[in-house]
Parts: sequence; C-alpha cells; structure tokens
Amino acid sequence: MSSKLDASRPRAADTKKVHIADTQMTRQNWYKHVNWLNVTFIIGVPLTGCIQAFFVPLQLKTAIWAVIYYFFTGLGITAGYHRLWAHCSYSATLPLRIWLALVGGGAVEGSIRWWARDHRAHHRYTDTDKDPYSVRKGLLYSHLGWMVMKQNPKRIGRTDITDLNEDPVVVWQHRNYIKVVLTMGLIVPMLVAGLGWGDWYGGFVYAGILRIFFVQQATFCVNSLAHWLGDQPFDDRNSPRDHIITALVTLGEGYHNFHHEFPSDYRNAIEWHQYDPTKWTIWICKQLGLAYDLKQFRSNEIEKGRVQQLQKKIDQKRAKLDWGTPLDQLPVMEWEDYVEQTKNGRGLISIAGVVHDVTDFIKDHPGGKAMIKSGLGKDATAMFNGGVYYHSNGAHNLLSTMRVGVIRGGGEVEIWKRAQKENSEYVRDETGQRIIRAGQQVTKMPEPIPTADAA
Ligand SMILES: [Zn+2]
Ligand SMILES: [Zn+2]
Repeated sequence: MSSKLDASRPRAADTKKVHIADTQMTRQNWYKHVNWLNVTFIIGVPLTGCIQAFFVPLQLKTAIWAVIYYFFTGLGITAGYHRLWAHCSYSATLPLRIWLALVGGGAVEGSIRWWARDHRAHHRYTDTDKDPYSVRKGLLYSHLGWMVMKQNPKRIGRTDITDLNEDPVVVWQHRNYIKVVLTMGLIVPMLVAGLGWGDWYGGFVYAGILRIFFVQQATFCVNSLAHWLGDQPFDDRNSPRDHIITALVTLGEGYHNFHHEFPSDYRNAIEWHQYDPTKWTIWICKQLGLAYDLKQFRSNEIEKGRVQQLQKKIDQKRAKLDWGTPLDQLPVMEWEDYVEQTKNGRGLISIAGVVHDVTDFIKDHPGGKAMIKSGLGKDATAMFNGGVYYHSNGAHNLLSTMRVGVIRGGGEVEIWKRAQKENSEYVRDETGQRIIRAGQQVTKMPEPIPTADAA
C-alpha cells in the first residue's frame, strides 16, 4: 500500500535520469521547470474566478456563506492537516477526522498525506535545502514558487509518515483526492447557495473559486510571512517568527516562532488575548467530545526558552557596550611612575590598584573639580568608596572606561588577585564576554569605607 501511495519514492528507471529541477533553466526548457498542474490550481483557476466575478453580482447571502465556508475549509487545513495530522497535537474521533479531511480537501492544497509529509520535512529541515518551502530561497519562493516550479522530490528531507498511512481517513482522502476536491471545493459551496437561495453561479464563483483562492493565499502565508515578519521570542537561530498580522491572516498560525519550538502543542498562541481561532476550535471540539488528548508544553519549559532568548538578546546588547579594557590587557605601572606622571600634569587616579586617566573628565566631575583633583596621584580607593563619597554604580561603570593601567604589587590592594578574579571568576556569556553586574566592578568595595584614608 505504501509503495503505491509514496509518489516521492523513485522508481528504478527514474534514478538514472536527472530531475528537471536539477538542470539549468534556459529559454528553451523553462516550461519544463513549471509545474503546470499546480499553476492551473493556484493561479489559473483563481484568475478565471476574478474574471467571472465581473459578470456575477455578489449577493449578501452568498457573501456570508463564502466567509463561513472560508473558515470551515481554512480550519480544515489549520486544525486538521496541520495540527492534527502533521503534528499529532491532539487526537480526533472518527467523525471529526472525516469532517476535517473533507473541508480540508475543499481548501485545494493537496491531500493530507502529501501536505503533512512536506510539512514534517519543513519542521525537521527548516531553512535548509531539504526544507520544501525554505524562506532562504526567497519570500516568493516560500509562498508560491515551491509549488509553481517543479521540485526534485528526492531533495525534500525524508520524514516518517507511517502513522498517516495507518489512518484510514487519510488513506481514503489521498486515494479519492480529485473527487474530494471537486465536491468540497466547488460542488458543495455551489449547492448550498443554489439550493438555499437560488444563487448557483454566485455560489460557484464566490464560495467556490474565489474562496479557494483566499484560503490558499492565507495558508501559504504560514510558509512565507510567518518566516519573514515579526519577533523571535523563543529562538532566533532559524527563520520562524511571531506576528499578529500573520495570525489574523492564517486563523491563528502566526505565532510561528512558538510553533517551531513547540510543534506538538495544540496551541500556537499561548496568551488568552492572542488570536488563535484554530486553538479555540480544537478546544470547543474537546468540549463536544470530538477531540481529546490535547497536547500542551508545560509553561516551565516555554518560559525557559523565552528567558534564554532574552539572555541572548541581552548578551548581544552588552557586547556592543564599552566596559573598559580588561585588567589583564592593561600595562603594568610602578607606583613611582604613576605618582611621577600625575606630577607632570597627567590626570591619573588610582582606585583599587587600577589607574584611570581622568584628565578629560575633571571638568565634568559631578562632585566638582577640587574633589577629583584631590585624589590624583594617590590611592583613592577609600575616597571613591565612601571615604569622601560612596560613588554610584554608574560612576564605577564610567570609571572602568577610563582605565589605562594597573599598579604593580599594590600592597593592600592586591590587584593581581583581582585581575585573576576578573579573568576567571566573572561569569561569561556564550560569546565569551565578561558579564559585569552592578556592584561587581573591580573598583567597588563591598562595604562603604567610612573615613577618608588617602595613601
Ligand atoms: Zn514554518
Ligand atoms: Zn507546523
């Protein structure tokens, strides 16, 4: 059964031939690169619908029916094809599976089996060559190009679909796909409008063809827009993104960064106020006894991902800031040399054994020129740390940007130990940058020093 169904499996004769997708496109062979069947379904048919719409007046009832049927068929894709069959994020009873297979077929996006296989490859090989609709090949490619142009099925990453082959609804829909498409895509929407209020042609054009076009374009946005527009709150190593606009267009599939991190969660939006009608539909089906085993990741796991991504963002921000030259990269100065240089007019100040050049800062010192000048050429550790004024965290940060050297030996100061500490004990982020937290600056004394004690 499976070999019959698996169109992607190459037959012996095919393996020797070079697939057209792997050849250069030229003026002579371009038409061979085009998947004309798909072009007919996703471009040709909608185009005829647009033309016919000029001649068929739109009745209110038909318009309402088209919107309702848009939701039915769209949810067939999102709640059925995607969250049920591609990701097994919940279980559905037989009646619900039949319903989803029918209305999903009405969206005209291929059979469940074909769709879910490609989608599993998309998740497994996101953004790589094995991703059937990789956004790395361009936004238009991820939206339409991958269907309009022929693809070598052997290039698409392999995925396990044994579970789908064991679902009789999936197998039945795959075998009878053309019948399902014609019935659910065109005949049913026409019948409802025709038998209901006599608008046969309107039902065919608006609830049929044009509705198919809108559902297709909307769900294609999951492959394109959801990998292009928005934030990445959980992981930014790949392209999936979260955005309300994508969610509005795709019946809630727009929280795609979350979805790629937690694909078997039946939700895409985790906050109550976010728009995810697919989630609401699955939840209602559960209340009606049609769906069960709704899978959900623990919020502990979700929040860990969010915090790690925030940390990564902070690391990137911190890496752009000037934290001063690391101590072990500063030249070593003799105490006498330090004193000598200040006598010669250079504005050097030693705090905790680190020499800072404050020449240009003296005029800007918030405590006044006289105060800062009184520390020049001395050990101003105590003065800076409460002896004269207990300087702020911001002051320690600013001071570190003015570092120019470290004093050899340093007596009580023990600068070498401190340099070692800064080198080894300071936490580093994943890029190897030191994380200097408030109050941990090397010039900072743990307790304020109460009396002025100039060296
Ligand atoms: Zn995706
Ligand atoms: Zn998915």
